[in-house]
Amino acid sequence: MEKETIKRKYNELVASLEDAKMYDGRGEYNGYVCEKCGYITATLYKEKGVTPFIIQCEKCGKAAMHKITSRNAPPADPNISEVKNWVRPTLDQLMKMSQATIDHVLNGGLVFEEELKGL
Ligand SMILES: [Zn+2]
Repeated sequence: MEKETIKRKYNELVASLEDAKMYDGRGEYNGYVCEKCGYITATLYKEKGVTPFIIQCEKCGKAAMHKITSRNAPPADPNISEVKNWVRPTLDQLMKMSQATIDHVLNGGLVFEEELKGL
């Protein structure tokens, strides 16, 4: 995708976000449960946007599915990860990401804050 196109689409997305008919989970915790080892990845929506139904388990690499939704932070538990934040990259950060991630973000998708370190 051309840089100018990414910039135009990103700016349109951000400008229309508050009114967009898009799931608004801000302040909501989601738990992704690994189907193989049972480890739970805890996440928190920091922004309005779309998140995947399945992510990769950080313990074993298998699929972890979104099964838990809560307004309360998860308890401290060795079987639950530190809370990972869902955020929207800035335009500068987005320009350095993969085409698949660019498509995801331009469709309203959020990414983990830790993916943005160093960008
Ligand atoms: Zn696992």
